[in-house]
Amino acid sequence: MKHPEYNEFAKFCLHELIELQDDFKSRYDIDGYEDWFYNQSNGLLTFSTEEDQINFRYLLAGTFSKRSNTWKWSWDNENIMPEVKKEVSSVKNFGYQSEFEKLTNGCFESDEEEAWELTAITARLTKGIGVYRPASEDLLTFMVIQEFVDNETAQAIKDKYVECGAHEYRRRAFVCNHLNYRDKIGFEESFETYENMQLEDDDDFQDWCNECEKVRQKEDGWNDNSMAFADIKVICEQCYFDMKELNLGYR
Ligand SMILES: [Zn+2]
Ligand SMILES: [Zn+2]
Repeated sequence: MKHPEYNEFAKFCLHELIELQDDFKSRYDIDGYEDWFYNQSNGLLTFSTEEDQINFRYLLAGTFSKRSNTWKWSWDNENIMPEVKKEVSSVKNFGYQSEFEKLTNGCFESDEEEAWELTAITARLTKGIGVYRPASEDLLTFMVIQEFVDNETAQAIKDKYVECGAHEYRRRAFVCNHLNYRDKIGFEESFETYENMQLEDDDDFQDWCNECEKVRQKEDGWNDNSMAFADIKVICEQCYFDMKELNLGYR
């Protein structure tokens, strides 16, 4: 059974989205670009034509499967990276407060029109500036655009990620060259870390081994000598936490 208040709210959000979307499209001319690309790890959606590009921060509201006719919220989907779904849980919380079941059921039978409604609700509740749904065969992805990101900032965000052979594309981490996947040699972090934590713009995951720590203390901090001894390398965030687990067994 449909909740009458819910229906009204959904309709209101959909109308609001139509206006929002007109404004978004005319302001940024996203249909004028040849290519698009999105990255769930860093949360950036990029439209480009050769060198010319425009970037946005986006959230993934959910996906609609044309094969099974089901909607699945991103927060219910473990294949979706945290960066693009963590804020979508505010929609679920609102659903609990308002007793709107469609916002609290992770996955249910639906249709494409309703998928747009759910996306419109997400846009309203997360203060989105527009939506984007790339054309695809079976699985439709509904994205809510959060904000425009200038090219310099977008590059700075992209620079904080690395391609890892084992873990694909992840945030970067800096470790001393001695750390590996076999030996327990200590794990000295520059600050206490946990998986999927938010980092400030100028913070990075950093750690070094016991030997490096001895040299660092002898040299009274990081200087040319202690840096040369550490011989810092870049690894991915997941590798970092795997090494942390090996050394500290913290999990
Ligand atoms: Zn070391
Ligand atoms: Zn890795």
